[in-house]
Amino acid sequence: MDNNITIEPSTHGKGRKRIANKQEWKREKAKSKRYSRQHLPEFPTCGHRTKTMQCCLLTMTEIRKFNEGFYQKKSKLLQDMFVLKHCVTSKPKRPGTKIKENVRNKPKAISVKYNIKTSKGTIPVCKKTFVAILGIGKNRLQRIVSRYHQTGGLPAENRGGDQISHKTDAKRQAIKRD
Ligand SMILES: [Zn+2]
Repeated sequence: MDNNITIEPSTHGKGRKRIANKQEWKREKAKSKRYSRQHLPEFPTCGHRTKTMQCCLLTMTEIRKFNEGFYQKKSKLLQDMFVLKHCVTSKPKRPGTKIKENVRNKPKAISVKYNIKTSKGTIPVCKKTFVAILGIGKNRLQRIVSRYHQTGGLPAENRGGDQISHKTDAKRQAIKRD
């Protein structure tokens, strides 16, 4: 310990100088960048025009508007909530067909319906279109929906806790990009 340092009281009216927390600031900036739009929304190429999927009916203006609504908030939590607001999940109706005593087939996976809100109403689309319009990864969508379905609650900010799965995600995306 250095005993030569004397601590003097600060002059009246002058608070302690706040030192900018650069680390925190950088992290916040990176966070906001991570949840900003990476590229413009794409027009769906699937050509769906059925009762349950009407990707064809969307116009570019409607696509842009929906995309803008999503990126208005650059936070993971609010974006996840936006996604959930436009998804309808339903449990499989049957628990899987019975093969023999105490043995059942795997039940069907949860079914998810994706809706795009437009000025002319809600337009149901396929997963591919939904993901393309929002410009998010399939995996992120999958995680949001399944977590919601498992816990029945809204997604929580998990960063800081589980960093491993996030790292592997980044790795996975990096691999895909190559
Ligand atoms: Zn489609």
